[in-house]
Amino acid sequence: MSTSMLSGSCLCGEVRFIATGETQRFYHCHCKRCRKASGTGHASNLFLKGTLSWEGGEDLVKSYKLPEAERFTNTFCGTCGGRVPRFVESLDIVFIPAGSLDVEPDLAPQARIFTGSGTDWSCDEAGLPGFSEYPD
Ligand SMILES: [Zn+2]
Ligand SMILES: [Zn+2]
Repeated sequence: MSTSMLSGSCLCGEVRFIATGETQRFYHCHCKRCRKASGTGHASNLFLKGTLSWEGGEDLVKSYKLPEAERFTNTFCGTCGGRVPRFVESLDIVFIPAGSLDVEPDLAPQARIFTGSGTDWSCDEAGLPGFSEYPD
């Protein structure tokens, strides 16, 4: 078991954080909630057993808990709307939207989950061509 120190920030850079602990799960989640919250075909979610500390912009962090959900909460920067991590007390775990990280995590994605809720157009790495930026 190794301890990671993962730093990250929001889109505007005002909210900055460090998550310290053991990375445990890394999933691409295709559920409808993740799609709505991320605006994409799936959300890439990393779960870390450890602590979350804000390095800046904590006062900008807003969260929205879906009323009918047991836990689903979208946490984001109030200025730019970029998703940021949250500490989930009931699970004693840090939930990290992987795109908010400024470093490469030590864990690779392990699975796609809730694929039954996915859309036909969502990325599934099914042999599409790759480009480093926009295609020509
Ligand atoms: Zn921001
Ligand atoms: Zn999901």
